[in-house]
Amino acid sequence: MNLRNFDYDELVQLFNNNDLPAYRAEQLFTALYSNKVDSLDKITTFPKELRADLMAHHTIKSFKAMKKQVSVDGSIKYLFTMEDGKSIEAVFMPWYDDAEKTNIRNTLCISSQVGCSLDCKFCATGTMDLERNLETHEIISQILDIEHDLNTKITNVVFMGMGEPLLNYKNVARAVNILTHPLTDLMSRRKITVSTSGVVPSIKKMANLSRPPKLAISLHGTTNGFRDKIMPINLKADITVLMNAVEDYYRKTKLNITYEYIPFDGMNDTIEDAKRLAKICKRVPSRINLIPFNDISFTEPTGIAETLKPSSSERIIEFANEIRKFGGIVTIRDTFGSDIDAACGQLALSTRNSTSEEV
Ligand code: SAH
Ligand code: SF4
Repeated sequence: MNLRNFDYDELVQLFNNNDLPAYRAEQLFTALYSNKVDSLDKITTFPKELRADLMAHHTIKSFKAMKKQVSVDGSIKYLFTMEDGKSIEAVFMPWYDDAEKTNIRNTLCISSQVGCSLDCKFCATGTMDLERNLETHEIISQILDIEHDLNTKITNVVFMGMGEPLLNYKNVARAVNILTHPLTDLMSRRKITVSTSGVVPSIKKMANLSRPPKLAISLHGTTNGFRDKIMPINLKADITVLMNAVEDYYRKTKLNITYEYIPFDGMNDTIEDAKRLAKICKRVPSRINLIPFNDISFTEPTGIAETLKPSSSERIIEFANEIRKFGGIVTIRDTFGSDIDAACGQLALSTRNSTSEEV
């Protein structure tokens, strides 16, 4: 059994079932997430015998292999092979203060599923079928193993890698619970962002967590007509239903919402779209994050996917100003790792991983 699969209460329960006191569970939890031991034999607060017993039946290792590719911009794409041979990707993005040249934060973009079932027309992961949900330990280990490999602290985590996190709700919620547990100083809930294409029932559940994370909504359209075409999930929960869930999330959590929006040339980047986006933005404290459309031509898109072209960078800047003029708050996302197919929406285990280096 992998011990990174248990939240604190479950560990206490596990120890209790084995006639071990709760304080041992607390020692283990602290060793795993405060001291961040990378192997069980380093848990020095445990007597030798208990450690040996633990090691005989448990592990904290999630991956068989880890490869990485470094981008010219400093971001690093990791490819993990799991015990069943399936693979996932995560992307490390260091941010620097330009004036001071100091490293101000390290964001890690992690995966929640192998593939994705949702078929958004602009996303390379959407061209893969869903193979399976990640276990909690596979979510947590992406963070801890990369911290260990780079010998640095990851300050922010975004669930924006492969998969739809809110269709793997149980494991994502458990991972958030572990990462934000008061017994560890791993991460504040404000440093974790869960991005969803709009799985309304899970947004409602997540709003009731004791330490809910930040919510990002992949919007990409301001009319149901267009959103239906590029994001089939809109047929299940349309923009009105989604906005009501978002409003409820804000009311319960008091965390500002982010709307992610890819401007597609001539399709969703008109002045009317800017007006509607500003209106959406004013419903609860939130901001629009414009994401330049990253190339996914390696997936050989057909149908509507083939007609989606990025708005020019000049148009994106203009569009941002139009949204501002109507009263919306907007930022334009920096792109990381496009030279190694690590940018948003490009994670699809392209066979071009051949240039990766074994870690
Ligand atoms: N399934 C979740 C999280 C993973 S996708 C979601 O859809 O929100 C992370 C972000 O990348 C989402 O906002 C998604 O819409 C965006 N994205 C997908 N394909 C993209 C592409 N080709 N270019 C730019 N962003 C893309
Ligand atoms: Fe899945 Fe998100 Fe890609 Fe849509 S954008 S296919 S939900 S990973």
